[in-house]
Amino acid sequence: MSHEINLGLNAQQSAAVRHLESPLLVLAGAGSGKTRVITEKIVYLIEKQGIPARQVFAVTFTNKAAKEMVARTAERLPPERRRGLNISTFHTLGLNFIRREYAALGLRAGFTVFDSDDSLALFKSLIGHSEYKDVIEPKAAQWQISQWKNDLRTPQSCYEQAKNEGWDEETRALAGLFDQYQRQLTACNALDFDDLIGRPVELLQSDAAVRERWQARVRYLLVDEYQDTNTTQYELVRLLVGKIGALTAVGDDHQSIYAWRGAKPENLNRLADDFPNLHRIKLEQNYRSVNSVLKAANHLIALDTTTASKQLWSDIGMGEPHRVIVAATAEDEAERIATEILHRHFRAQTEYRDFAVLFRGNHQARLIEQALRKLNIPYSLTGGQSFFERAEIKDAMSYLKLLVNPDDDAAFLRVVNTPRREIGPTTIEKLGGFARERRSSLFAAARSIGIQSVFDNRAADRLNRFCDWLDGIRAQPDRDAIDVIQQVFDAIDYPAYLREQESTPKAADRRWQNVEEWLDWLAKISDTQVEAESEGGESATKMDLPALAQRMTLLGILDQQTREKDSNAVALLTLHAAKGLEFGHVFMAGMEEDILPHRDCIEDEARLAEERRLCFVGITRARLSLTFTLTKRRRRYGEWKDTEPSRFLDDIPADLLQWQGEGIEQPKEVSQAQGREHLAGIRAMLGK
Ligand code: ATP
Ligand code: MG
Repeated sequence: MSHEINLGLNAQQSAAVRHLESPLLVLAGAGSGKTRVITEKIVYLIEKQGIPARQVFAVTFTNKAAKEMVARTAERLPPERRRGLNISTFHTLGLNFIRREYAALGLRAGFTVFDSDDSLALFKSLIGHSEYKDVIEPKAAQWQISQWKNDLRTPQSCYEQAKNEGWDEETRALAGLFDQYQRQLTACNALDFDDLIGRPVELLQSDAAVRERWQARVRYLLVDEYQDTNTTQYELVRLLVGKIGALTAVGDDHQSIYAWRGAKPENLNRLADDFPNLHRIKLEQNYRSVNSVLKAANHLIALDTTTASKQLWSDIGMGEPHRVIVAATAEDEAERIATEILHRHFRAQTEYRDFAVLFRGNHQARLIEQALRKLNIPYSLTGGQSFFERAEIKDAMSYLKLLVNPDDDAAFLRVVNTPRREIGPTTIEKLGGFARERRSSLFAAARSIGIQSVFDNRAADRLNRFCDWLDGIRAQPDRDAIDVIQQVFDAIDYPAYLREQESTPKAADRRWQNVEEWLDWLAKISDTQVEAESEGGESATKMDLPALAQRMTLLGILDQQTREKDSNAVALLTLHAAKGLEFGHVFMAGMEEDILPHRDCIEDEARLAEERRLCFVGITRARLSLTFTLTKRRRRYGEWKDTEPSRFLDDIPADLLQWQGEGIEQPKEVSQAQGREHLAGIRAMLGK
């Protein structure tokens, strides 16, 4: 079967797909078909250029976007032609790299990936036992050290700088902590999230043989959402493509929304420095949205002085004005959204999957979920950490991680006394001291000869029994991962433990159901991932325990997992998670000062500009209609507060907005000036 590659592409897109002579940067607006170029180019490289799929690599930002890209290529390439194709997030690419190269990085098989909670726990323990107890706050330390790592700093370079530049005591202490943290990670045979990219970069820089091997393996690399790469990610790209630069990067500076997490939009320009033969292509036309959406987006982003101006246009028609629904309270807001969705669903036969509700922060999701559930509207939630943060799920994940890597201290601490084994805080405290002195993991400390001198017999006995039990399970010959976990739950009688914890059997049952749901989810990722990642003949086996555990952590932290029970469902997502996606009808909830822009960003010009771009990202997700919602009053920390409409609504021409709320009259024909007056009137009415 032959697949035409120029089907439905415009001239610039087609040129971008065919350009292979030098590295290529496609810098273009939202909805102009950048991601489309990437998928078409994947097809082109495999079908027309005869590059084996396993040598084609594409990276995107979120698991959801990667999944979408896999689906788009699946439509265009038969299974045998795309086997081994590498479409993933940066972090998964890094993890796959490390799975091949772990020995060179000083890791042992079965290494663990620490999620942000695990890493925070490690910081707490390190700081708690140091002389800096009163100087350093664990969360701040975690943030700073993550920034350093994303900037490719080493503890040594931070030390040096601290010494030479006379840093304050706290920063000097942080540099020291950085070193301890890395050592303890190594003792735990663990990596944190930043290491998934940082460690491969380190190895590629220092080891020429590894570099050559990988450069030969990566025949072509495509990067989506390039504006949001950080320094390590940029470096990874540069090292993987080498001097030849078989690279296509696509991005949009207007959609740079991750600077707060270390992303460097200036990487867009750095490419030209590192690759003097960089070719640039612009895409002009938007294929996603009606013009009322694009106009709103254009006006909003024109006020972002940090980015170059670009006008979005499409030939999809004008579209309807955007409604601004002013609700009394957050409960009311959620109900209005749910009713609107239900109405459109029935009135216009719009499928549920064509709707998205976007919000700034996860905490906004709960009421919306409840309102949708009340009306029996199916939804899928991305970005809600709730599921993976549940105690029972954390316990379950920790057992799995500990089976794979007994040196994982975070997992060890979580489950050593869950359910109760009478291994109390004093025992753990002593064990911790012993482990720290020897720079070993807790498990290794518990197993070492000298430990007898630290404990009384009973405590040593209990600890030993726990370790023996773990080792016993670990020693079983290769078994299906899910079976092993089932066995663990049987052995510890976890449902009984939950009944002990909960006041009603019903609550305990609910928590056990969560564990069962998690097991189903594990079974699913174990199957699908093997299919997506396998190369050549090695398909159709299930993942082994280590691979599954690593994959699980990664999926959990990257997207905080979408639990898509029903694929024809309304999508609930944060604005950050919505990047790259599109929906027929978009609701943007909480269009208020302090929410969007977020209250922490208002005082800082750069962060405020990023909030504006975030709002732009939200708006440009809409194909046909856009509805903003806000409340008059909102409860914060138990107190009712009056709210103020988001400043970003001011920046959208008034004739594009149709205000609706209790007692708010809609003007018939409005000029811009009248619109502003109208807005001022509404504000006055709301008591501003
Ligand atoms: P974003 O910046 O939001 O990530 P993007 O530039 O990646 O957007 P795509 O998602 O690739 O844009 O494309 C937007 C929509 O336009 C998609 O539905 C895509 O299928 C469609 N599209 C892209 N190019 C064309 C084209 N030449 N003809 C018709 N439709 C197109
Ligand atoms: Mg895109």
